[in-house]
Amino acid sequence: MTLYEYRCAACDAVELNFVIGQAPQSAECPGCGRQVRRVFSPPRLSIAGTSAYKLLDGTAKSAHEPEVVSGLPGRTAPKQRYTHNPLHRKLPRP
Ligand SMILES: [Zn+2]
Repeated sequence: MTLYEYRCAACDAVELNFVIGQAPQSAECPGCGRQVRRVFSPPRLSIAGTSAYKLLDGTAKSAHEPEVVSGLPGRTAPKQRYTHNPLHRKLPRP
């Protein structure tokens, strides 16, 4: 799903989710029910890959596809660090 921007005379800018390439030129405004026209806006590529984008994407995804939880989160064993450097064998063990 991709966000497309539409312009409503009463609500100003409205963003609606559609499948890429299937966004109609006009749609119904979710706020007032009027017909809104699609406007072209620059893609938000500047924030792609950032933690803010991942947070926004994860939040939007969880609204439509919540993760299924099958139980309580368990305690995980601390990760053991392994090294293959032979010099590290001489170091004292914890
Ligand atoms: Zn509206």
